[in-house]
Amino acid sequence: MPLSRREFLLGATSAAALAACSSGGGDSASSSTTTTTGPTTTLPVPPLPGDPFMLGVASGDPAPGSVVLWTRLAPTPTTGGGMPASDVPVVWEVATDDAFADIVASGVATAETQHGHSIHVIAEGLSDGVDYRYRFRAGDFTSPVGRTRVPPATNASSLNFAFGSCQHYQAGFWPAHTHLAEEDLDLVVWLGDYIYEGGISDTGVRKHEGPEPTTLDGYRNRYGLYKSEKNLQAAHAARPWLVVWDDHEVDNNYAGDSSQDSVPADEFLTRRAEAYKAWWEHMPVRLDPPTGPTYEINRSLDWGGLASFFAIDTRQHRANQACGRESDVGEGCPEVDDPARQMLGAEQEAWLTEKLPGSSATWNVLANQVIFSPSPIPVGSSTVLNLDQWDGYPAARTRVLDLLARTRNPVIITGDIHASAVADVKQGDSVVAVEFVGTSISSGFPDAFIDFFESAAATTGVLMADARHRGYVRCRLTPESFISDYRIVESALVDTSPISTASSFVITAGQPGVRKA
Ligand code: FE
Ligand code: CA
Repeated sequence: MPLSRREFLLGATSAAALAACSSGGGDSASSSTTTTTGPTTTLPVPPLPGDPFMLGVASGDPAPGSVVLWTRLAPTPTTGGGMPASDVPVVWEVATDDAFADIVASGVATAETQHGHSIHVIAEGLSDGVDYRYRFRAGDFTSPVGRTRVPPATNASSLNFAFGSCQHYQAGFWPAHTHLAEEDLDLVVWLGDYIYEGGISDTGVRKHEGPEPTTLDGYRNRYGLYKSEKNLQAAHAARPWLVVWDDHEVDNNYAGDSSQDSVPADEFLTRRAEAYKAWWEHMPVRLDPPTGPTYEINRSLDWGGLASFFAIDTRQHRANQACGRESDVGEGCPEVDDPARQMLGAEQEAWLTEKLPGSSATWNVLANQVIFSPSPIPVGSSTVLNLDQWDGYPAARTRVLDLLARTRNPVIITGDIHASAVADVKQGDSVVAVEFVGTSISSGFPDAFIDFFESAAATTGVLMADARHRGYVRCRLTPESFISDYRIVESALVDTSPISTASSFVITAGQPGVRKA
């Protein structure tokens, strides 16, 4: 029989834990959490059908002194989670050693039924330069151990991060995550397509757990499937992530309130709200839970003056793809150039306008989804565009270009396209930024278009284009240079595959443009 939250609290054996549990309030994402330090104990939980830590652990949105710790209790992740319909107290601990002898922060958080029994703790009082361990305990169960770190407030001398995107479960396995977990990194930036919403495919190397999700329960099961994978769990457990979404977290190529299948806007917004909530429940983000279909996730992350990341959302507020065609790849039309067509939406664009040019960081990284650089594709005597990319929103792009031109060492990192590319970004004849497009973790690029993509890219002057390989991009930053290593696996059609560096590129601080390293 489910116990109420109050009955749990009455059963708590530690007065400190009791006080901590009932204190409530707090700021931002810590509302269901405490940061009380001191001895923790095992708190009673209702009978669980199995290990509730099947989805592993994660940390994210690190800031000087603090980081978000995440887990979700789900003994049966692909079939509804399997938790009793009551809130559950969860002990969390941060230590400096593997044995958890030196615990530096701990407390009790409540895994709430209304949030799918997810936990978002803000661990505070942490120091930079320390490789912290963290874990959770619910009843007799203990989670896997994660590692995390926080940035210095100032004077960072180096930052190693990697960025990735697009992990279609049915299209491939994730050997890239095994290697990502082993890299020497401070941070991982995720640019979207964490899940794919499609149903069960007849082709592909493995199968989704069910049909296309449109409800909270459906999206929870889909995240449950993806997050059950051990190599993805390892990549999360190894270090903090900064996560934003793209389209497939809701619906392929959606734009604002327009769905792929043109369902009525109010119906789609109901679905979007459920998808956004499931995203929040599964991501280690320093954000309050969404309460409806509108949810602002754009935010910045500073790494000690060396780098600032500006994570944007190019899905929620954009105008529908122009020209009203089935395919997003095609010839332009007058609608494309309508200056009223938004990509970021007025509010987000105002935020970027205020933050980006004013940033004093050495490197300013725009964590972006779809390709920013003009990418016209010559076909016979005509030219086609991918109208889902910034090419479909040229007025909005021109405004962002103007910001980049006034920003110190701007670098755009991009996902979405399942191919790699490196290019200078120009305003007229001057180079104002560099764009690094990363390939996918596992999502495919259509064989029939590989040669086409690579040769079209060559005509637009890109330094490198590669639609054949899966992997991620590792970036090594110092005050002097920004080096990107394109890390590719031999094959994403098998679970274990070696990795290598296909090519490396360098930007020198204060100098325009990128070159081969
Ligand atoms: Fe994708
Ligand atoms: Ca996408």
